[in-house]
Amino acid sequence: MDAHLVSSIDSDEFTHLTRALSRSTLIGLDAEWKPIRSQRSTFPTVALLQLACQLGDDPAEWDESVVFLLDLVSIPLPSIWELLKDVFVSPDILKLGFKFKQDLIFLSSTFGAEGCDPGFDKVEPYLDITNMHKFLQHKQGKKVSKDTKSLSAICEEVLGISLSKELQCSDWSRRPLTEEQLRYAATDAHCLLEIFKIFQAKVVKEGKSCNDVKELHEFNLSLGLKDIFQMPDGDNKLVGTKFCNALDIVQATASSEDCGRIARGLEVIRKTKPMDESLWKIVRKYGEKLLLRESDRKPKTSRKNGKKRSSVVAACKKNQLDSSGDWEGLPPWDISLGGDGWPKFLCDVMVEGLAKHLRCVGVDAAIPLSKKPEPRELIDQAYKEKRVLLTRDAKLLRHQYLLKNQIYRVKNLLKNEQLIEVIEIFQLKISEDQLMSRCTKCNGRFIQKPLTTEEAIEAAKGFQRIPNCLFDKNLEFWQCMDCNQLYWEGTQYHNAVQKFIDVCKLND
Ligand SMILES: [Zn+2]
Repeated sequence: MDAHLVSSIDSDEFTHLTRALSRSTLIGLDAEWKPIRSQRSTFPTVALLQLACQLGDDPAEWDESVVFLLDLVSIPLPSIWELLKDVFVSPDILKLGFKFKQDLIFLSSTFGAEGCDPGFDKVEPYLDITNMHKFLQHKQGKKVSKDTKSLSAICEEVLGISLSKELQCSDWSRRPLTEEQLRYAATDAHCLLEIFKIFQAKVVKEGKSCNDVKELHEFNLSLGLKDIFQMPDGDNKLVGTKFCNALDIVQATASSEDCGRIARGLEVIRKTKPMDESLWKIVRKYGEKLLLRESDRKPKTSRKNGKKRSSVVAACKKNQLDSSGDWEGLPPWDISLGGDGWPKFLCDVMVEGLAKHLRCVGVDAAIPLSKKPEPRELIDQAYKEKRVLLTRDAKLLRHQYLLKNQIYRVKNLLKNEQLIEVIEIFQLKISEDQLMSRCTKCNGRFIQKPLTTEEAIEAAKGFQRIPNCLFDKNLEFWQCMDCNQLYWEGTQYHNAVQKFIDVCKLND
Protein backbone atom coordinates (compact mmCIF):
# COMPACT_ATOMS: atom_id res chain seq x y z
CA MET A 1 0.00 0.00 0.00
CA ASP A 2 1.34 3.36 -1.10
CA ALA A 3 0.65 5.87 1.69
CA HIS A 4 1.79 9.46 2.17
CA LEU A 5 1.51 11.76 5.12
CA VAL A 6 0.72 15.31 3.99
CA SER A 7 1.72 17.86 6.63
CA SER A 8 2.03 21.04 4.57
CA ILE A 9 0.65 22.44 1.33
CA ASP A 10 4.14 23.47 0.24
CA SER A 11 5.32 19.90 0.03
CA ASP A 12 5.85 17.31 -2.66
CA GLU A 13 3.25 15.16 -0.94
CA PHE A 14 0.65 17.88 -1.40
CA THR A 15 1.47 18.21 -5.11
CA HIS A 16 1.24 14.45 -5.35
CA LEU A 17 -2.18 14.62 -3.67
CA THR A 18 -3.61 17.21 -6.07
CA ARG A 19 -2.29 15.23 -9.05
CA ALA A 20 -3.80 12.02 -7.71
CA LEU A 21 -7.15 13.73 -7.12
CA SER A 22 -7.27 14.86 -10.71
CA ARG A 23 -6.76 11.27 -11.85
CA SER A 24 -9.27 9.66 -9.49
CA THR A 25 -12.90 8.85 -10.01
CA LEU A 26 -13.17 6.88 -6.79
CA ILE A 27 -12.03 7.97 -3.34
CA GLY A 28 -12.35 6.29 0.05
CA LEU A 29 -12.76 8.76 2.92
CA ASP A 30 -12.10 8.30 6.60
CA ALA A 31 -11.19 10.53 9.51
CA GLU A 32 -9.62 10.10 12.93
CA TRP A 33 -10.00 12.21 16.04
CA LYS A 34 -9.23 12.04 19.68
CA PRO A 35 -12.32 10.70 21.38
CA ILE A 36 -13.94 12.93 23.96
CA ARG A 37 -15.04 10.90 26.92
CA SER A 38 -17.00 13.43 28.87
CA GLN A 39 -20.23 14.89 27.59
CA ARG A 40 -19.30 18.24 26.20
CA SER A 41 -20.94 20.88 24.17
CA THR A 42 -18.43 20.59 21.34
CA PHE A 43 -17.58 17.96 18.79
CA PRO A 44 -14.19 16.27 18.81
CA THR A 45 -11.53 17.92 16.65
CA VAL A 46 -10.57 15.84 13.64
CA ALA A 47 -6.82 15.30 13.58
CA LEU A 48 -6.38 13.24 10.42
CA LEU A 49 -8.31 12.92 7.19
CA GLN A 50 -7.55 9.94 4.98
CA LEU A 51 -8.17 9.96 1.25
CA ALA A 52 -7.63 6.66 -0.56
CA CYS A 53 -7.49 7.47 -4.27
CA GLN A 54 -8.12 4.86 -6.92
CA LEU A 55 -6.09 6.06 -9.88
CA GLY A 56 -7.27 5.82 -13.46
CA ASP A 57 -10.74 6.24 -14.86
CA ASP A 58 -11.25 2.82 -16.35
CA PRO A 59 -12.41 0.30 -13.72
CA ALA A 60 -11.09 -2.53 -15.91
CA GLU A 61 -7.56 -1.28 -15.33
CA TRP A 62 -7.83 -0.43 -11.69
CA ASP A 63 -4.85 -1.69 -9.83
CA GLU A 64 -3.03 1.40 -8.69
CA SER A 65 -4.16 3.27 -5.64
CA VAL A 66 -2.57 5.69 -3.23
CA VAL A 67 -3.58 6.80 0.25
CA PHE A 68 -3.02 10.33 1.56
CA LEU A 69 -3.11 11.10 5.24
CA LEU A 70 -3.90 14.78 5.68
CA ASP A 71 -2.49 16.01 8.94
CA LEU A 72 -5.17 18.50 9.98
CA VAL A 73 -3.18 19.48 13.06
CA SER A 74 -0.30 20.84 10.94
CA ILE A 75 -1.94 22.07 7.75
CA PRO A 76 -3.68 25.49 8.03
CA LEU A 77 -7.27 24.43 7.40
CA PRO A 78 -8.34 27.45 5.29
CA SER A 79 -5.69 26.49 2.73
CA ILE A 80 -7.33 23.14 1.93
CA TRP A 81 -10.96 24.00 2.61
CA GLU A 82 -11.90 24.86 -0.99
CA LEU A 83 -10.05 21.86 -2.32
CA LEU A 84 -11.87 19.44 -0.01
CA LYS A 85 -15.24 21.07 -0.60
CA ASP A 86 -14.75 20.63 -4.35
CA VAL A 87 -13.73 17.01 -3.99
CA PHE A 88 -16.73 16.31 -1.74
CA VAL A 89 -19.21 17.58 -4.31
CA SER A 90 -17.39 16.79 -7.56
CA PRO A 91 -19.79 14.84 -9.80
CA ASP A 92 -16.75 13.13 -11.32
CA ILE A 93 -15.58 11.53 -8.09
CA LEU A 94 -17.51 8.84 -6.27
CA LYS A 95 -16.83 9.09 -2.55
CA LEU A 96 -16.87 5.96 -0.38
CA GLY A 97 -17.13 5.92 3.37
CA PHE A 98 -18.18 3.99 6.41
CA LYS A 99 -20.90 6.01 8.13
CA PHE A 100 -19.05 9.08 6.95
CA LYS A 101 -21.79 11.46 8.01
CA GLN A 102 -20.44 11.38 11.54
CA ASP A 103 -16.96 12.20 10.25
CA LEU A 104 -18.38 14.98 8.12
CA ILE A 105 -20.10 16.58 11.12
CA PHE A 106 -16.87 16.55 13.08
CA LEU A 107 -14.83 17.73 10.08
CA SER A 108 -17.26 20.52 9.50
CA SER A 109 -17.01 21.71 13.08
CA THR A 110 -13.21 21.37 13.03
CA PHE A 111 -12.93 23.52 9.90
CA GLY A 112 -15.59 25.93 11.20
CA ALA A 113 -13.53 26.54 14.33
CA GLU A 114 -10.58 27.56 12.13
CA GLY A 115 -12.50 30.23 10.29
CA CYS A 116 -13.90 28.04 7.51
CA ASP A 117 -17.51 28.64 8.35
CA PRO A 118 -19.80 26.74 7.71
CA GLY A 119 -17.37 23.90 7.14
CA PHE A 120 -18.86 21.32 4.81
CA ASP A 121 -22.47 20.67 4.04
CA LYS A 122 -22.52 18.00 1.38
CA VAL A 123 -20.83 14.89 0.01
CA GLU A 124 -22.16 13.77 -3.35
CA PRO A 125 -22.10 11.31 -5.06
CA TYR A 126 -21.51 9.09 -2.06
CA LEU A 127 -21.81 5.39 -1.36
CA ASP A 128 -21.75 3.88 2.10
CA ILE A 129 -19.94 0.62 2.75
CA THR A 130 -22.78 -0.51 5.01
CA ASN A 131 -25.20 -0.33 2.08
CA MET A 132 -22.80 -2.19 -0.21
CA HIS A 133 -22.44 -4.84 2.45
CA LYS A 134 -26.20 -5.23 2.71
CA PHE A 135 -26.39 -5.60 -1.05
CA LEU A 136 -23.70 -8.30 -1.03
CA GLN A 137 -25.39 -10.15 1.82
CA HIS A 138 -28.65 -10.05 -0.06
CA LYS A 139 -27.01 -11.39 -3.25
CA GLN A 140 -25.52 -14.29 -1.31
CA GLY A 141 -28.97 -15.17 -0.06
CA LYS A 142 -27.94 -14.29 3.47
CA LYS A 143 -30.36 -12.72 5.82
CA VAL A 144 -29.65 -9.02 5.75
CA SER A 145 -28.91 -8.04 9.29
CA LYS A 146 -30.70 -5.01 10.61
CA ASP A 147 -27.84 -3.74 12.72
CA THR A 148 -24.91 -2.47 10.79
CA LYS A 149 -21.68 -4.23 11.44
CA SER A 150 -18.42 -2.53 12.25
CA LEU A 151 -16.02 -1.81 9.44
CA SER A 152 -13.64 -4.48 10.71
CA ALA A 153 -16.44 -7.07 10.73
CA ILE A 154 -17.37 -6.15 7.17
CA CYS A 155 -13.73 -6.33 6.09
CA GLU A 156 -13.37 -9.71 7.68
CA GLU A 157 -16.48 -11.00 5.97
CA VAL A 158 -15.98 -9.47 2.52
CA LEU A 159 -12.20 -9.33 2.17
CA GLY A 160 -11.18 -12.01 4.64
CA ILE A 161 -8.74 -9.68 6.37
CA SER A 162 -8.95 -8.49 9.92
CA LEU A 163 -8.43 -4.89 10.89
CA SER A 164 -7.12 -4.20 14.29
CA LYS A 165 -9.34 -1.77 16.13
CA GLU A 166 -6.86 -1.26 18.92
CA LEU A 167 -5.64 2.08 17.64
CA GLN A 168 -9.01 3.58 16.92
CA CYS A 169 -9.16 5.20 20.33
CA SER A 170 -5.53 6.21 20.46
CA ASP A 171 -4.59 9.85 20.76
CA TRP A 172 -4.76 11.11 17.19
CA SER A 173 -3.94 14.68 18.20
CA ARG A 174 -0.46 13.82 19.39
CA ARG A 175 2.45 14.46 17.03
CA PRO A 176 4.32 12.75 15.60
CA LEU A 177 1.88 9.94 14.86
CA THR A 178 3.34 6.48 15.30
CA GLU A 179 4.04 4.15 12.39
CA GLU A 180 1.25 1.89 13.63
CA GLN A 181 -1.22 4.76 13.72
CA LEU A 182 -0.32 5.78 10.16
CA ARG A 183 -0.62 2.22 8.90
CA TYR A 184 -3.92 1.75 10.68
CA ALA A 185 -5.34 5.01 9.31
CA ALA A 186 -4.24 4.22 5.75
CA THR A 187 -5.67 0.69 5.87
CA ASP A 188 -9.03 1.95 7.11
CA ALA A 189 -9.44 4.15 4.04
CA HIS A 190 -7.85 1.72 1.62
CA CYS A 191 -10.15 -1.17 2.50
CA LEU A 192 -13.11 0.95 1.32
CA LEU A 193 -11.72 0.77 -2.22
CA GLU A 194 -11.25 -2.99 -1.96
CA ILE A 195 -14.79 -3.60 -0.71
CA PHE A 196 -16.11 -1.40 -3.49
CA LYS A 197 -14.32 -3.47 -6.12
CA ILE A 198 -16.07 -6.62 -4.92
CA PHE A 199 -19.38 -4.80 -4.84
CA GLN A 200 -18.81 -3.45 -8.31
CA ALA A 201 -17.92 -6.87 -9.72
CA LYS A 202 -21.24 -8.20 -8.38
CA VAL A 203 -23.19 -5.31 -9.83
CA VAL A 204 -21.54 -5.71 -13.23
CA LYS A 205 -22.28 -9.45 -13.20
CA GLU A 206 -25.87 -8.59 -12.37
CA GLY A 207 -26.00 -6.08 -15.18
CA LYS A 208 -25.47 -8.90 -17.66
CA SER A 209 -28.72 -10.59 -16.64
CA CYS A 210 -31.59 -10.02 -19.01
CA ASN A 211 -33.45 -7.95 -16.48
CA ASP A 212 -30.95 -5.16 -16.68
CA VAL A 213 -30.64 -5.40 -20.44
CA LYS A 214 -34.33 -4.64 -20.62
CA GLU A 215 -33.96 -1.77 -18.22
CA LEU A 216 -31.12 -0.37 -20.25
CA HIS A 217 -33.04 -0.78 -23.46
CA GLU A 218 -36.03 1.12 -22.17
CA PHE A 219 -33.81 3.65 -20.59
CA ASN A 220 -31.96 4.56 -23.75
CA LEU A 221 -34.69 4.30 -26.30
CA SER A 222 -37.39 6.26 -24.64
CA LEU A 223 -35.43 9.31 -23.65
CA GLY A 224 -35.40 12.44 -25.69
CA LEU A 225 -32.75 15.10 -25.36
CA LYS A 226 -34.92 16.98 -22.91
CA ASP A 227 -35.24 13.91 -20.70
CA ILE A 228 -31.53 13.29 -20.81
CA PHE A 229 -30.92 16.81 -19.59
CA GLN A 230 -33.41 16.17 -16.84
CA MET A 231 -31.64 13.03 -15.68
CA PRO A 232 -29.74 13.55 -12.47
CA ASP A 233 -26.49 12.49 -14.09
CA GLY A 234 -27.23 14.64 -17.11
CA ASP A 235 -27.29 17.51 -14.65
CA ASN A 236 -23.95 16.48 -13.32
CA LYS A 237 -22.34 16.55 -16.73
CA LEU A 238 -23.93 19.90 -17.33
CA VAL A 239 -22.81 21.18 -13.96
CA GLY A 240 -19.33 19.87 -14.67
CA THR A 241 -19.15 21.85 -17.88
CA LYS A 242 -20.54 24.95 -16.26
CA PHE A 243 -18.06 24.57 -13.49
CA CYS A 244 -15.17 24.65 -15.94
CA ASN A 245 -16.61 27.71 -17.62
CA ALA A 246 -17.00 29.32 -14.23
CA LEU A 247 -13.31 28.85 -13.57
CA ASP A 248 -12.43 30.65 -16.79
CA ILE A 249 -14.67 33.54 -15.78
CA VAL A 250 -13.17 33.64 -12.31
CA GLN A 251 -9.69 33.67 -13.75
CA ALA A 252 -10.57 36.44 -16.16
CA THR A 253 -12.11 38.71 -13.55
CA ALA A 254 -10.48 38.05 -10.20
CA SER A 255 -7.24 39.63 -9.08
CA SER A 256 -4.26 37.42 -9.64
CA GLU A 257 -3.92 36.77 -5.93
CA ASP A 258 -7.56 35.71 -5.51
CA CYS A 259 -7.25 33.79 -8.68
CA GLY A 260 -4.36 31.72 -7.41
CA ARG A 261 -6.21 30.93 -4.24
CA ILE A 262 -9.46 30.01 -5.98
CA ALA A 263 -7.79 28.18 -8.80
CA ARG A 264 -5.77 26.03 -6.45
CA GLY A 265 -9.02 24.56 -5.22
CA LEU A 266 -10.79 24.39 -8.53
CA GLU A 267 -7.89 23.14 -10.56
CA VAL A 268 -8.34 19.62 -9.33
CA ILE A 269 -11.94 19.38 -10.36
CA ARG A 270 -11.33 21.08 -13.66
CA LYS A 271 -8.91 18.39 -14.62
CA THR A 272 -10.93 15.40 -13.47
CA LYS A 273 -12.49 13.35 -16.17
CA PRO A 274 -16.12 12.31 -16.13
CA MET A 275 -16.71 8.85 -14.76
CA ASP A 276 -16.47 5.75 -16.83
CA GLU A 277 -19.92 4.54 -17.91
CA SER A 278 -19.95 1.45 -15.67
CA LEU A 279 -19.09 3.51 -12.61
CA TRP A 280 -21.65 6.04 -13.59
CA LYS A 281 -24.30 3.37 -13.73
CA ILE A 282 -23.49 2.42 -10.15
CA VAL A 283 -23.75 6.03 -9.07
CA ARG A 284 -27.06 6.36 -10.86
CA LYS A 285 -28.46 3.27 -9.19
CA TYR A 286 -26.89 3.25 -5.75
CA GLY A 287 -25.36 6.69 -5.25
CA GLU A 288 -26.61 8.88 -2.47
CA LYS A 289 -25.77 12.18 -0.91
CA LEU A 290 -24.77 13.19 2.57
CA LEU A 291 -26.32 16.44 3.66
CA LEU A 292 -25.62 18.26 6.88
CA ARG A 293 -28.56 20.11 8.29
CA GLU A 294 -28.51 22.84 10.87
CA SER A 295 -29.50 20.33 13.55
CA ASP A 296 -26.50 18.14 12.70
CA ARG A 297 -24.16 20.96 13.49
CA LYS A 298 -25.02 21.06 17.16
CA PRO A 299 -23.80 18.37 19.52
CA LYS A 300 -26.58 16.29 21.04
CA THR A 301 -27.04 17.16 24.67
CA SER A 302 -26.37 14.72 27.46
CA ARG A 303 -29.08 12.26 28.34
CA LYS A 304 -28.48 12.79 31.99
CA ASN A 305 -29.59 16.34 31.64
CA GLY A 306 -33.35 16.06 31.97
CA LYS A 307 -34.12 19.63 31.06
CA LYS A 308 -32.08 19.74 27.90
CA ARG A 309 -33.30 16.36 26.85
CA SER A 310 -36.91 17.41 27.05
CA SER A 311 -36.15 20.44 24.95
CA VAL A 312 -34.63 18.18 22.31
CA VAL A 313 -37.73 16.00 22.39
CA ALA A 314 -39.85 19.12 22.11
CA ALA A 315 -37.81 20.26 19.11
CA CYS A 316 -38.32 16.88 17.44
CA LYS A 317 -42.02 17.03 18.05
CA LYS A 318 -42.12 20.49 16.59
CA ASN A 319 -40.38 19.26 13.47
CA GLN A 320 -42.88 16.49 13.09
CA LEU A 321 -45.73 18.90 13.46
CA ASP A 322 -44.20 21.21 10.92
CA SER A 323 -43.78 18.55 8.32
CA SER A 324 -47.07 16.76 8.85
CA GLY A 325 -48.95 20.02 8.54
CA ASP A 326 -50.11 21.54 5.33
CA TRP A 327 -47.96 22.18 2.35
CA GLU A 328 -46.29 25.51 2.80
CA GLY A 329 -46.60 27.82 -0.11
CA LEU A 330 -46.26 27.04 -3.75
CA PRO A 331 -44.03 24.18 -4.76
CA PRO A 332 -40.62 25.48 -5.79
CA TRP A 333 -41.05 24.14 -9.24
CA ASP A 334 -39.08 25.36 -12.14
CA ILE A 335 -39.31 24.12 -15.67
CA SER A 336 -35.76 22.81 -15.76
CA LEU A 337 -36.86 20.10 -13.33
CA GLY A 338 -39.28 18.70 -15.90
CA GLY A 339 -42.99 18.19 -15.55
CA ASP A 340 -43.79 21.10 -17.88
CA GLY A 341 -43.63 23.58 -15.05
CA TRP A 342 -45.69 21.42 -12.71
CA PRO A 343 -44.40 19.25 -9.94
CA LYS A 344 -43.69 15.67 -10.88
CA PHE A 345 -44.87 13.16 -8.32
CA LEU A 346 -43.83 9.83 -6.92
CA CYS A 347 -46.78 7.96 -5.42
CA ASP A 348 -45.98 5.59 -2.58
CA VAL A 349 -47.52 2.08 -2.81
CA MET A 350 -50.38 3.12 -0.53
CA VAL A 351 -51.50 5.74 -3.03
CA GLU A 352 -50.78 3.91 -6.30
CA GLY A 353 -54.35 4.41 -7.40
CA LEU A 354 -53.75 8.11 -7.15
CA ALA A 355 -50.80 7.74 -9.56
CA LYS A 356 -53.14 6.35 -12.25
CA HIS A 357 -55.63 9.12 -11.58
CA LEU A 358 -52.94 11.79 -11.88
CA ARG A 359 -51.77 10.29 -15.17
CA CYS A 360 -55.36 10.37 -16.42
CA VAL A 361 -55.40 14.14 -15.94
CA GLY A 362 -52.01 14.48 -17.63
CA VAL A 363 -49.82 14.86 -14.54
CA ASP A 364 -46.43 13.11 -14.38
CA ALA A 365 -46.82 10.53 -11.60
CA ALA A 366 -44.34 7.70 -11.13
CA ILE A 367 -44.62 4.69 -8.85
CA PRO A 368 -41.84 3.06 -6.81
CA LEU A 369 -39.26 1.01 -8.69
CA SER A 370 -39.93 -2.07 -6.57
CA LYS A 371 -43.13 -3.57 -5.18
CA LYS A 372 -42.15 -3.22 -1.54
CA PRO A 373 -39.80 -0.27 -1.45
CA GLU A 374 -37.76 0.56 1.62
CA PRO A 375 -38.29 4.14 2.78
CA ARG A 376 -34.82 5.05 1.62
CA GLU A 377 -35.42 3.65 -1.86
CA LEU A 378 -38.49 5.85 -2.12
CA ILE A 379 -36.61 8.86 -0.92
CA ASP A 380 -33.70 8.18 -3.25
CA GLN A 381 -36.03 7.88 -6.20
CA ALA A 382 -37.81 11.11 -5.31
CA TYR A 383 -34.45 12.81 -5.05
CA LYS A 384 -32.96 11.47 -8.22
CA GLU A 385 -36.04 12.03 -10.37
CA LYS A 386 -36.77 15.33 -8.63
CA ARG A 387 -40.26 14.31 -7.67
CA VAL A 388 -42.51 15.24 -4.81
CA LEU A 389 -43.22 12.13 -2.78
CA LEU A 390 -46.91 11.57 -2.10
CA THR A 391 -47.59 9.14 0.72
CA ARG A 392 -49.96 8.30 3.52
CA ASP A 393 -47.13 7.07 5.69
CA ALA A 394 -46.54 9.62 8.43
CA LYS A 395 -43.25 7.93 9.36
CA LEU A 396 -41.71 8.98 6.06
CA LEU A 397 -42.24 12.61 6.95
CA ARG A 398 -39.76 12.31 9.74
CA HIS A 399 -37.02 11.18 7.42
CA GLN A 400 -34.08 13.51 7.70
CA TYR A 401 -33.07 13.05 4.12
CA LEU A 402 -35.96 14.78 2.41
CA LEU A 403 -36.64 18.46 2.40
CA LYS A 404 -39.99 19.42 3.76
CA ASN A 405 -41.28 20.54 0.42
CA GLN A 406 -40.38 17.27 -1.27
CA ILE A 407 -42.93 15.19 0.52
CA TYR A 408 -46.65 15.54 1.08
CA ARG A 409 -48.89 13.36 3.18
CA VAL A 410 -52.17 12.72 1.42
CA LYS A 411 -55.08 13.13 3.83
CA ASN A 412 -57.98 11.60 1.89
CA LEU A 413 -58.55 7.87 1.56
CA LEU A 414 -60.39 7.60 -1.73
CA LYS A 415 -58.74 8.06 -5.12
CA ASN A 416 -61.07 10.75 -6.44
CA GLU A 417 -60.78 12.80 -3.29
CA GLN A 418 -57.02 12.29 -3.24
CA LEU A 419 -56.82 13.61 -6.78
CA ILE A 420 -58.81 16.74 -5.88
CA GLU A 421 -56.66 17.21 -2.78
CA VAL A 422 -53.41 17.09 -4.77
CA ILE A 423 -54.81 19.40 -7.48
CA GLU A 424 -55.82 21.93 -4.84
CA ILE A 425 -52.72 21.73 -2.66
CA PHE A 426 -50.32 22.00 -5.59
CA GLN A 427 -52.56 24.42 -7.47
CA LEU A 428 -52.49 22.33 -10.62
CA LYS A 429 -54.49 23.79 -13.47
CA ILE A 430 -56.13 20.91 -15.26
CA SER A 431 -57.68 21.54 -18.67
CA GLU A 432 -59.79 19.23 -20.75
CA ASP A 433 -57.17 18.69 -23.44
CA GLN A 434 -54.76 17.29 -20.86
CA LEU A 435 -57.10 14.46 -19.95
CA MET A 436 -55.80 11.08 -21.13
CA SER A 437 -52.61 12.61 -22.47
CA ARG A 438 -50.35 10.16 -20.64
CA CYS A 439 -49.93 6.39 -20.56
CA THR A 440 -51.86 5.21 -17.51
CA LYS A 441 -49.87 1.98 -17.51
CA CYS A 442 -46.37 3.41 -17.26
CA ASN A 443 -46.61 7.22 -17.00
CA GLY A 444 -45.00 7.58 -20.47
CA ARG A 445 -45.83 10.28 -23.01
CA PHE A 446 -47.56 9.56 -26.30
CA ILE A 447 -46.06 9.88 -29.76
CA GLN A 448 -46.53 13.29 -31.35
CA LYS A 449 -48.95 12.21 -34.09
CA PRO A 450 -51.79 9.70 -33.89
CA LEU A 451 -51.50 6.47 -35.87
CA THR A 452 -54.01 5.38 -38.49
CA THR A 453 -55.75 2.03 -38.05
CA GLU A 454 -53.28 0.36 -40.47
CA GLU A 455 -50.29 1.78 -38.68
CA ALA A 456 -51.73 0.77 -35.34
CA ILE A 457 -52.30 -2.83 -36.46
CA GLU A 458 -48.68 -2.96 -37.63
CA ALA A 459 -47.44 -1.44 -34.37
CA ALA A 460 -49.49 -3.82 -32.26
CA LYS A 461 -48.24 -7.01 -33.95
CA GLY A 462 -47.23 -9.69 -31.49
CA PHE A 463 -47.76 -7.29 -28.64
CA GLN A 464 -51.31 -6.12 -28.19
CA ARG A 465 -54.60 -7.23 -29.70
CA ILE A 466 -56.74 -4.60 -31.36
CA PRO A 467 -60.38 -5.66 -31.51
CA ASN A 468 -61.60 -6.19 -35.09
CA CYS A 469 -64.66 -4.07 -34.46
CA LEU A 470 -62.44 -0.98 -34.42
CA PHE A 471 -61.08 -1.46 -37.93
CA ASP A 472 -63.74 0.39 -39.89
CA LYS A 473 -64.31 3.17 -37.39
CA ASN A 474 -61.54 5.47 -38.59
CA LEU A 475 -60.27 6.04 -35.06
CA GLU A 476 -57.10 7.75 -33.98
CA PHE A 477 -54.58 5.53 -32.19
CA TRP A 478 -52.01 6.88 -29.77
CA GLN A 479 -48.94 4.94 -28.76
CA CYS A 480 -46.94 5.29 -25.55
CA MET A 481 -43.34 6.17 -26.33
CA ASP A 482 -42.11 4.21 -23.33
CA CYS A 483 -44.04 0.94 -23.17
CA ASN A 484 -45.56 1.00 -26.70
CA GLN A 485 -49.09 0.43 -25.39
CA LEU A 486 -51.72 1.58 -27.90
CA TYR A 487 -54.74 3.61 -26.90
CA TRP A 488 -57.66 4.64 -29.04
CA GLU A 489 -60.48 7.07 -28.64
CA GLY A 490 -63.21 4.47 -28.16
CA THR A 491 -66.07 4.25 -25.69
CA GLN A 492 -63.73 3.58 -22.76
CA TYR A 493 -61.76 6.67 -23.60
CA HIS A 494 -64.82 8.89 -23.79
CA ASN A 495 -66.18 7.48 -20.52
CA ALA A 496 -62.86 8.18 -18.82
CA VAL A 497 -62.68 11.72 -20.15
CA GLN A 498 -66.23 12.38 -18.93
CA LYS A 499 -65.39 10.90 -15.53
CA PHE A 500 -62.43 13.19 -15.02
CA ILE A 501 -64.33 16.22 -16.31
CA ASP A 502 -66.77 15.48 -13.48
CA VAL A 503 -64.17 14.68 -10.83
CA CYS A 504 -62.15 17.81 -11.60
CA LYS A 505 -65.33 19.83 -12.11
CA LEU A 506 -64.04 21.16 -15.41
CA ASN A 507 -67.55 22.05 -16.50
CA ASP A 508 -68.20 24.41 -13.62
ZN1 LIG B 1 -46.66 3.38 -21.43
